[in-house]
Amino acid sequence: MKPRLLLVEDESGVVLALTDRLEAHGYDVAVARDGDAGLLRASAEAFDLVLLDAMLPRRNGFDVLRELRARGVGTPVLMLTARGQVGDKVMGLKLGADDYVTKPFSPREVVLRAKAILRRGQAPSEGAGPASFGGGELSIDEDRRVVSVRGEAVDLTPTEWGVLVALTRTPGRVYSRYELINRVRGYEFEGYERTIDSHVKNLRRKIERDLRSPTIVETVLGAGYRLGLAADA
Ligand code: CA
Repeated sequence: MKPRLLLVEDESGVVLALTDRLEAHGYDVAVARDGDAGLLRASAEAFDLVLLDAMLPRRNGFDVLRELRARGVGTPVLMLTARGQVGDKVMGLKLGADDYVTKPFSPREVVLRAKAILRRGQAPSEGAGPASFGGGELSIDEDRRVVSVRGEAVDLTPTEWGVLVALTRTPGRVYSRYELINRVRGYEFEGYERTIDSHVKNLRRKIERDLRSPTIVETVLGAGYRLGLAADA
């Protein structure tokens, strides 16, 4: 089945260029022309990815993203932000966007980013079965893309999933923010290492028993993060 994308964008030129290019790459593209319409469709329908412009009529892109995450919609989001608005990029990532591209962008760049995000959401095909940590406190089934904490399935965004899976590769090993962001994005990603902190914060809210003293994703001051649980035999 074709991946379904929702493009929330009000500029006709951008809509045309992106729709053409994305459809040429085999994506099924739906379009919403303002923030309200985008929020409505992204909440009501199943999409594999939302491409969300920051500057939109009726409701801006950040507002749409904030509201989507507040409603528990975990669909990956690629933000389209204005050039030079550094605060915009950080804000988008903090609100739970999975990546961003800066305008003016080439449609090719958008396709590459979209592909990278969709790849992150896919299960590998190794068939290794679930891995268990901390005496069953955490279980990760990469084939089925399911994370369970204390027996309960947890719904993670692709970035949260990527961070957690990266940490479980070698339990106890410290991963720097830079390394984590590159592992999660799947390509070299300069800068904004601190945005990993926001994703870790959101991840912890979903998996930790006590947010004041996290035991699954531990902070190592001045170094990064590590998995605080040992792998079960
Ligand atoms: Ca716009």
